[in-house]
Parts: sequence; structure tokens; C-alpha cells
Amino acid sequence: MIPKLLKIGVVHFAGCSGCQLMLLNCEAELAILAQRVDCVDASMITSATCEETPFDLLLVEGSITSPSEQQHLQKLRLRCRHLVAVGACALTGGINRFDAPTRETACTHVYGPVADQIETFSPQPVANFVAVDACIPGCPPEHSDFLDFFGALSCGVWPTQRDAPVCMECRTRELRCLLEEDHLPCLGPITIGGCAARCPALGIPCEGCRGEVSEANRDELCHLMAKTHLSKSELKRRIQRFTGGENV
Ligand code: SF4
Ligand code: SF4
Repeated sequence: MIPKLLKIGVVHFAGCSGCQLMLLNCEAELAILAQRVDCVDASMITSATCEETPFDLLLVEGSITSPSEQQHLQKLRLRCRHLVAVGACALTGGINRFDAPTRETACTHVYGPVADQIETFSPQPVANFVAVDACIPGCPPEHSDFLDFFGALSCGVWPTQRDAPVCMECRTRELRCLLEEDHLPCLGPITIGGCAARCPALGIPCEGCRGEVSEANRDELCHLMAKTHLSKSELKRRIQRFTGGENV
């Protein structure tokens, strides 16, 4: 049973806050949204905080990078009915995980002689520590991702997850295929749609910021990429940028 007035919170871990900003930028719809939700804790939305109140819904932005963040997240999970991972950082570690090969050097560079005392680990997806009930993809997500999500909830149904690739939207808009016709390295065939193929529409190959569709066929993508300038290792790195680098 989904309550009419949802008590929601937005919590931020390691990330640029772009996901929260996109929610706030739904300017035309915020007044309507405010009638459906009671935002009890969100650093960029309200100065109110609640340390005990339970949440109906907690939106989690950012990746987890330290034992203290891990504990904080686990405590929050006990207080919320539903937890939603928002954006690439929360879903896969996102671009933060690009630190992996150079992590030690980077820590020393930033923290100097006290680097050893800083308790951090390589950025991890939220799902590595707590159960996640729903995901909103993107880096950052689109306005429509948030509005569809809350729209479904306010109608009393649980939001569905998009799983069709960017290519579907590209074809629907009858755009020129940058991969097949121009041999540009476009990740649209394996990337979750929902952006209306914004980048291909501007002549820019998809970078894969919305994460991978569940049936992503990387072998076929490699085959399609054969005519582009990307080497296999560069393609691998490009896919890793928003997928957290697992199993590529
Ligand atoms: S997913 Fe992208 S927009 Fe959202 S916090 Fe991470 S880097 Fe920023
Ligand atoms: S341009 Fe990219 S997203 Fe569009 S159809 Fe071609 S491969 Fe797919």
C-alpha cells in the first residue's frame, strides 16, 4: 500500500549532486510534486532534518567510499520502507570508480603523509551494502525519470524500470545512425534509453551514461565497433565509465 502523502528523503554520498539538482530543476512540476510528497530530509531541498523519522521513500545519490558512509547507509536502510538508488554513482559506482587503477597514487597526492590514516575504499554501488528497491538511471537522470517515478507512485503503482536501448529512441526520431553510417563509437545499442537520444540527435555518440540494458550484447557491439577508430581496450574503458567496470 503506497501512502497518499509520501514522506521522502534524499541522501547524498560521493557524487557531484547533479542528480538532486535535476530533481530540483523540475521547476514546472515541483508545486504538483509538493502536494504528493512531504520532504522530511534533503540537504539541497529543505533545511529540516530528521534523525529518527521513518521514510516511506529514501532516494540515495552517490557511491559509498568509506566505512563511515557504509554504516550511515545501513542505518538509513533500517528507517526506510523503500530505498531508491539514483544515478550512475549510486547504481554502479559511476565515474568515481575510475579511480581504481590509480587510487593509491591519488590518495597520496591529495592527502600527503596522512593518506594512510584516511579510511576510504574504492567507490562502491549502494546495492553492495543494502537492499535496493528501485533504480533511477542516468548521470544525471532526466527530469522525466523523476516525474515518471513519482507519477506512478501517486497513481498507486510501483514504477517500472526502463530497459529499451537508446537506439530505439534514435530510430523513432529517424536520426542518422552515427555508428553504422559515420563509424563513430556510439554506445546506444547497449545503453538504457529515456534520454530521447539527446546526444546522437546532436551528432555526438552515446557515452553510455544511463547504464546498460539487461540484455546488453557487448560481443555484437564490439563487432559493430570494428569500423570505428576505437581499439578494444579503449572500448572496454568507455563501457566501464558508467558501468563500474564489472565483467567488461
Ligand atoms: S550520477 Fe552523475 S550526476 Fe549523479 S551524482 Fe554521480 S556524477 Fe553527479
Ligand atoms: S546513433 Fe547510436 S543510438 Fe542512434 S541508432 Fe546509431 S548506434 Fe543507436
